Amino acid sequence: MRPLQMVDLKQQYEHIKKDVDQALHEVLDSCAFINGKPVQDFANSLAGYLGAKYVIPCANGTDALQIALMSLQLQPGDEVITPSFTYIATTEVIALLRLKPVFVDVDPKTFCLVPEEVEKAITAKTKAIIPVHLYGHAAPMEPLMRIAEKYGLFIVEDNAQAIGCDYTFSNGDKRKTGTIGTIGCTSFFPSKNLGCYGDGGALFTDDENLAGRLKMIANHGQKVRYYHEMVGCNSRLDTLQAAVLNIKLKKLDEYTAARQKAAACYTEAFSGLEQITTPYIAPYSDHVFHQYTLILNGVSRDGLHQYLAEQQIPSMIYYPVPVHRQQMFASFGGGDYRLPQTDWLTERVISLPIHTELETDQLEFITQHVLTYINK
Ligand SMILES: *Cc1c(COP(=O)(O)O)cnc(C)c1O
Repeated sequence: MRPLQMVDLKQQYEHIKKDVDQALHEVLDSCAFINGKPVQDFANSLAGYLGAKYVIPCANGTDALQIALMSLQLQPGDEVITPSFTYIATTEVIALLRLKPVFVDVDPKTFCLVPEEVEKAITAKTKAIIPVHLYGHAAPMEPLMRIAEKYGLFIVEDNAQAIGCDYTFSNGDKRKTGTIGTIGCTSFFPSKNLGCYGDGGALFTDDENLAGRLKMIANHGQKVRYYHEMVGCNSRLDTLQAAVLNIKLKKLDEYTAARQKAAACYTEAFSGLEQITTPYIAPYSDHVFHQYTLILNGVSRDGLHQYLAEQQIPSMIYYPVPVHRQQMFASFGGGDYRLPQTDWLTERVISLPIHTELETDQLEFITQHVLTYINK
């Protein structure tokens, strides 16, 4: 059996090595390291894949979120509603831009924002909502869009963990997550479902004006070189990374299917156990399994983690401290929030290895050891 890893990038690379090496060499030969042809090619292909009108590549997923918020022309102190049960980047950019993060609880089934809680948190200062499609499952976009329309709010989707996920509306229409709200943001961090070999990110929108602004902000606020209309930043996707992404985007659906197959294997092995809640998939959402996350009921999480580690099986806690309890947000009244579901989940979640290269013997080894520990 191959050694187990949370994400096996090496094995995945072995399968696409010839194409990747060739694409990288072409970039090296061209020396077009910045904004070379693969960057625009990738933006076009990704727009086609997602069904988004505009894709603006940038340097990483955190920048994508920052650039999205910068484009909305908000005022210091304006409020942005976000889950606390997420990766820090979602919320950090809000504070960085002197906006106020307002933390809202999540649904313990989907790990995503609860629309009713979002509506309750709206004040006269609320300007935007950032739903996170956590672990690869969509946030309830249809009700969130209804709320956004009712109160005139922007929606910036944090799609860093859910690229390729389909959202089904009540009329049967389907859209990819990240293309439903005002702006979608994603990350191509190596371990993400569509990952490059370094840092990368992108923004998506259907709004032509916004697309122009996003592009300008990512490029020092300029449309015409050396004429700077607004304060922006420097956030580019490297040509080398775009070359890798062009190859991996073609395989994304295949990669998603491999993740789903591994997830189904876990879920089957753990079904019917009182001590383990397997990932829920809402009728409106697909699940692209960026993470395969269990909720433990009456089982020591530290004990399971330790036991698995002794068998060379990695497991992770995403995330050990919810955002509202991070010291970073103490001055934003973080500790004053009462988010019982977020706290409850934070103490009980554990994620098992999930990636595109998991083999049957590895999955069996993992499930057997989880079951052994649970039944001890
Ligand atoms: C990875 C991630 C980001 C940030 O992406 P980077 O490319 O690492 O900056 C933002 N939000 C979520 C939910 C993520 O998982």
